[in-house]
This record gives sequence, structure tokens and C-alpha cells, in this order.
Amino acid sequence: MLLLADWVIPVSSAPLADAGVRVMDGRIDEVGPAAQLRARYQGEEERTFPGCALLPGFVNSHSHLELSAFRGFARPSGFGRWMLNLLMARRKLDKDDYGPSALWGAYEAARCGITSLGDTAYDGLAVARAVAAAGLRARVYQEVFGLDDDSLPRTMERYEAVMARLREEADAAPRDPGGLALVEAGVSPHAPYTVSVRLYHEAARFARRAGLRVATHVAESAAEVQVLARGSGPIARAYRLAQLWTGASWAPPRMRPVEYVAASGALSPETLVIHAVEVDAGEVGMLARSGAPVAHCPRSNARLHCAAAPVAEYLEAGITVGLGTDSLSSNDSLDMFAEMRAALAAAESRVETGASPGGRLSPEAVLRMATIEGARALGWEEATGSLETGKSADIIAVRVRDGGGAASPVDGLVGAATADDVRLTMVAGRVVFAATAESGGPEVYPPASILEGYQAVRRKLGLKG
Ligand SMILES: [Zn+2]
Repeated sequence: MLLLADWVIPVSSAPLADAGVRVMDGRIDEVGPAAQLRARYQGEEERTFPGCALLPGFVNSHSHLELSAFRGFARPSGFGRWMLNLLMARRKLDKDDYGPSALWGAYEAARCGITSLGDTAYDGLAVARAVAAAGLRARVYQEVFGLDDDSLPRTMERYEAVMARLREEADAAPRDPGGLALVEAGVSPHAPYTVSVRLYHEAARFARRAGLRVATHVAESAAEVQVLARGSGPIARAYRLAQLWTGASWAPPRMRPVEYVAASGALSPETLVIHAVEVDAGEVGMLARSGAPVAHCPRSNARLHCAAAPVAEYLEAGITVGLGTDSLSSNDSLDMFAEMRAALAAAESRVETGASPGGRLSPEAVLRMATIEGARALGWEEATGSLETGKSADIIAVRVRDGGGAASPVDGLVGAATADDVRLTMVAGRVVFAATAESGGPEVYPPASILEGYQAVRRKLGLKG
């Protein structure tokens, strides 16, 4: 099949005008000028996308699809208040509610042109089923929590049982043309303020033994730095108000967040460090030496009044940085265009305050973070993240606006496109979303049953729509 458009933006090489991609057996067979492809493959089925660009599907390196029903939940607020509100709101939900919430989230991700996700989940099984149903590529990092080392053996025993079921589910998922499972299991010790050093150590050891990757939230907020340093502040207060923590069995470790995770032995090139906002120069060095990639979530950070992550410093230090939306409990949408613009703005804010004087990012750089660098952060750079011969056909077609006379299609897309401009989303050669029924999409998207299940969960939370 030939996909043809006004532009092809391979990301790994310069944009091509009037070009296309040949897809065969779920793989990208050739990328080149439309005339050349047509001449070479006469009579082959064609799909044309006038006014559009073809580009690699987005890699959302950090999401929580199961929290999609919380869309519109978070007003801008400090981290501690948001955390308390979320903890209390989650008590209105039953375990069965995460499935419909994740399912809608997975369909919404496909609609937004996201073909791959690094998702951290409380109910990993529900998310694994949701992404498989939507036809996406995802690693589902099952979360584990625990500050009390007395219950550590029991926590790990339970966790390993949950992981066995999740891995079975992942093994049953379809594979891409390169033989890579479209759904993978991963391990996620949640964050330094919910996981002891020993539990981090045990979870990372389990992951290594099982050949699984790790993801963890680190240094997201100043509140996290404070609770680790002194055992006080908004997180400690939220714990007390939610009656989750009396503080009796826990003493502040008096360490910086990255230092804490490094001390547990959990930092490695296979550990995705989510957020990494509140870091000092020593911690940037620690991350660089460990080889751990970072998932940058600028809209979530802004919503929770967290600072802007030092992305320019990370890139300077050779750290891989992917882009993530985080959950819809702290973001408005899964729109990766909006996320790219927020990444530009976050970098700009550090330039303006003098924190990173030379730290401005280009549209090309944030597009790479939303595609190939996100793939690299998740260890999938050989399979996806750019349009190159031999890679899985993870492709999207997006309407290009001129962005006020933008010089290149990348400027136009990053400057002005939204998720509503996505016309087609393909994963491993299979169309998982099309904007119109003529190009293979369903009449109603998402299917009515998925929307109904999702809305039922939202009603429980007191949210409309
Ligand atoms: Zn998160």
C-alpha cells in the first residue's frame, strides 16, 4: 500500500515534498517522492492525504491511561493539594472502573496520533487489555508502593503475582513485524515519597531478573524534595489528611530525589526517570552517568505549579529526553502538539529567568522528543519513532496548517496543529484511527459502548461529559 501526502517528515532525515511511504506486511518498505513510488509500484493500492504530512506516530513516553476519566479534574494548584484531591477522588472508584477509563484513554490516544506509550498503571491488567483493544504499542509499567519495610516481603510477593498475570496478558498480545510484542510489561516503583530505598532495590532486582524495564516518578515537585529532606511540607500534610501515613515508621532519608533512587541501585539505562524537574547539577551528572532516559511532561508540570525541567542541560549532558502527557488528572488532553508547544515554552521560561541561558529548543528538537527520542527512552528506537525502511509501519497523517507562513512543515505542525488535525493513525500497518469513514474509520469514534463506560466512571467522580 502507498500512503501519499504533500509532505513526508521522516524525523530521521529532512522533510520531503510530494512524497509517500510504501507499507508492506506491517513494515515501512520505502520512503520517497510520490512520482517515484507510483512509477515503481504501478497498480498498488493508494491512499492520498492532500494538505497533510505523513510522520512517525507519536511516542507518549509517560501516561496513565487508567486515569483518563479524570479529564477536567485538576484545577491549577500546588502539588500537595492536587495529590490529596486525587487520593480522595480515587476512593469514589471501584477496581472495575479503571478498565473503562483506560479503554477510552487508549482510543483517545489513537485519535491523537499516539502509536506508542510508556504507561504507568495501578491496574496494569486493565491498561494492557485497553491498549491491545485499541491496537496500540505500549509498555505497561505496573506500579508498586510501600514505605514500610516491615511489610516489604509481603508487598513483593503480591507484586510478583500481579506481574505474572500482567506478563501473561502481554505475551498474548499481537507482535509487530519485527517480532516485538505490541504490549509489554514493565516495573514501576512509584516515587521516592511512596517507595522505600529497599523496595526500590527489590523492585529493580526483580525487573533485572525478569528482563523487564523500569519507570519511576522522580523529582517532580519541590514538595518531594522537602518531604525527603525534612519529612514535612505539602506531601506530608496530604498523607496525614488522607490518613495514609502517620509518619511513625518512616524517617526522612535526608537525600535529594535522584540521589535516593541512585542509592537503591535502581538507576540504569533501562530505567525511565519521569519528570526530573527538581534536580541540582550533581543530580544531572548522576542521571547522565547512569544512562537513564527522562520523560518530560511540561503541561502536567505547569498544571501542578512545578518548575520547568532543565531539558537543555539534559540534552547537553547526553541524556535521552522523551515527551509525555502524564495523566488526564493533571493535563487537559493527550494532544502531543500541545505538549510540544509546552516543551518549547518551558525551555523558553528557563532562558528568560536565566536558569538555562542557551537553552532554547527548536521545533525540530521537540518533534524528535515526541517521536524518535521517546522511542529511544523506551528502548524501541529500532522499531519505531521515525519513518525508515524496515521499521514498523507506525505512521500518522496530519493536516498541515501554515502556522502563519511557516517556512517548513515542521514549524507549521509544531506551531499550529492540534490533535484534531490527525487524519489517520497506523500501528504496524494496521489502521487504528481514521478521521473519516471513507479512509477506513468507524462511523462513530470511539465506539458508543466505550464512551458509555467512560461516562459512567466520570459520573461517579462528579464530572460531566
Ligand atoms: Zn505520572
